[in-house]
Amino acid sequence: MSDVREVIIIGSGPAGLTSAIYTARANLSPLVLEGEPSSTSDQPGGQLMLTTDVENFPGFPEGVLGPELMQNFRTQALRFGAEIQTVKASRVDLSSRPYGVWVGDPDTSEPTHRAQSLIISTGAQSIMLGLDREAELIGHGLSTCATCDGFFFRDQEIAVVGGGDSALEEAQFLSRFASKVTIVHRRDELRASKIMQDRAFANDKVEFRWNSVVDGYESDTSISGLRLEDTKTGEISILPVTGVFLAIGHRPNTDLFKGQLALKDNGYLITLPDSTRTDVEGVFACGDVQDDYFRQAITAAGSGCMAAIESERWLEDNPSNGH
Ligand code: NAP
Repeated sequence: MSDVREVIIIGSGPAGLTSAIYTARANLSPLVLEGEPSSTSDQPGGQLMLTTDVENFPGFPEGVLGPELMQNFRTQALRFGAEIQTVKASRVDLSSRPYGVWVGDPDTSEPTHRAQSLIISTGAQSIMLGLDREAELIGHGLSTCATCDGFFFRDQEIAVVGGGDSALEEAQFLSRFASKVTIVHRRDELRASKIMQDRAFANDKVEFRWNSVVDGYESDTSISGLRLEDTKTGEISILPVTGVFLAIGHRPNTDLFKGQLALKDNGYLITLPDSTRTDVEGVFACGDVQDDYFRQAITAAGSGCMAAIESERWLEDNPSNGH
């Protein structure tokens, strides 16, 4: 029989590592499955590992590098006795307690670990275009978060890719800083709501490039332009911009939980209002995996704290049944 833990935390962004700090300090000896290194945000440390300067995380008046901030979170969790393994969970079984968690081959009958309580903090990923050098250009002119990075593009010309509410909201926000914002959309009709469209059309700083797909990034060490292909004529042109914001959607990392936990239509985990409780007792979710609205490191960390406290109180009220 595999070992039985009080708490297993799956995921290691700001939410997961905050819950690790809190559960470790509550003597629950948490095991964190932090994920495996990759070139996407689905990796140890989460989305901040793909950013450079973070200027809006309180406590760092001069700003901090995303990877450095996450290293600090990790060191703090280790200091209080959290155990962190650099592996990915491959399967979970939430049908009975203690819950099963597999690492490696998901087809083995015995789970690798069991836990009385689970905290899910597997995060979400911005959908990328899949073009060459995309991962390395993040933080060098390419961004997926206007709230985080808009400030760096004061008086510059920038582009937003996408035609949904996110693209228009990002463009509106970015127009406070940029001298011009061009929304690049692959069709000639927006998906965004009417009110967002009206606002964008009324904004003097916002322009549109319709029927255009991104063919590549013009860049040396950072972005200097966007290579666009006109979908009607096939013509290639260069849009001179120093910043590009991708707003073509997000994908929560919830594949492991399909069929076992309630999900919204858009794939995000459902938690109870003002809580991190899921629809399975003793299973809590925090951070971007259950947040399709705020998506900030600080809100993720806050919900990680909530998940830790809720799991601690739940374990107190529901002591283990002999395992
Ligand atoms: P979305 O509604 O799915 O829109 C994604 C946009 O990106 C679409 O215009 C789509 O083009 C485009 N796109 C997708 N893949 C692309 C690709 N490979 N290349 C080029 N363009 C691509 O996503 P979202 O804007 O992030 O919004 C998600 C949800 O949150 C929506 O329900 C939205 O209403 C909501 N939201 C609401 C607000 C608000 O009310 N303030 C703000 C943000 C988000 P097509 O249109 O051609 O498919």
